[in-house]
Amino acid sequence: MLLSDFPRAKLAHLPTPLEFLPRLTEHLGGPDIYVKRDDCTGLATGGNKTRKLEFSMGEALAKGADTIITVGAIQSNHVRQTAAAACKLGLACEVMLEHRVTKPGDTYRNSGNVFLDRIFGANLREYPAGTDFDAAMREISNEVRAKGGAPYFIPGGASNPVGALGYVDCGIELLQQLDEQKLEIDHIISATGSAGTHAGLVVGLRGSGSELPILGIGVNAPQDVQEERVFKLAVETAELVSAPNCVVREDIVADCNYIGAGYGVPTDGMNEAVLMLARFEGLLFDPVYSGKALAGMIDYIRQGRFKKGQKIVFLHTGGSAGLFAYADALKF
Ligand SMILES: *Cc1c(COP(=O)(O)O)cnc(C)c1O
Repeated sequence: MLLSDFPRAKLAHLPTPLEFLPRLTEHLGGPDIYVKRDDCTGLATGGNKTRKLEFSMGEALAKGADTIITVGAIQSNHVRQTAAAACKLGLACEVMLEHRVTKPGDTYRNSGNVFLDRIFGANLREYPAGTDFDAAMREISNEVRAKGGAPYFIPGGASNPVGALGYVDCGIELLQQLDEQKLEIDHIISATGSAGTHAGLVVGLRGSGSELPILGIGVNAPQDVQEERVFKLAVETAELVSAPNCVVREDIVADCNYIGAGYGVPTDGMNEAVLMLARFEGLLFDPVYSGKALAGMIDYIRQGRFKKGQKIVFLHTGGSAGLFAYADALKF
């Protein structure tokens, strides 16, 4: 797996820290809990999309693009990081925002990530849920070309094989840190949404010969749909890095029992997890992804599915900017 063969724009602070969480570990009384701090990637409050964007933006620049087109929910962390990356690289940014949450309040529609998108000067267009975004993207591409521009489309979450390279890289980086810190861990846990993070991580580990199990905690789709989505993208990504067949279907495990009423809808477990990590470790997580994934991890520990004597790593994918959009929804 030679990632140096791919064009890459430098956007992230790497490597991100791998840290032990002593007070949370003691509080829960289960395994030793470590956190991989991808909330510290450094671009516009950080998060997992920055790693992916290094490769997506690298390809955009290599292809001579001057305008990035992308898509996400109103409170998309991906859109926020893309808008910031476009500024840093001197590119225009056209954004399709999807109304995925029903009856969003004023704070949801104006604070958090979308507020930052406006600061970065991205051109925002809003669409109802279920819009045909391929068609909308083609329309915007034609508009850009008609004005003499060169568009480059980055899919939602930058979750295509090129974007997933960012998490192949993260997998390799993590293995190196575990080696340096002489840590033998039993499990990795991460939120899994548009699938690029989960798929890239699996390829990074298996392609390096590591059999470490990875648990994805789903945030939108049912388990069978999510696992197939991750597997398909992992297979494509493995081919891209010339490590075909390094991933088998059994490598992909998602638990989608912590979604609650739906994507972006708060749950009691998320609420508890966000407050617990803040109050025991001074860490901020988000209501849509990392908070729900943490709720899953905490439940697994309480059920004894991760136990004392084991070591686990939680991948912190960031998203704290989204907290502000949920100021009225969190319970204290
Ligand atoms: C996008 C995102 C995820 C999920 O990553 P995918 O690659 O879309 O599966 C997790 N956490 C946060 C904070 C995110 O913004």
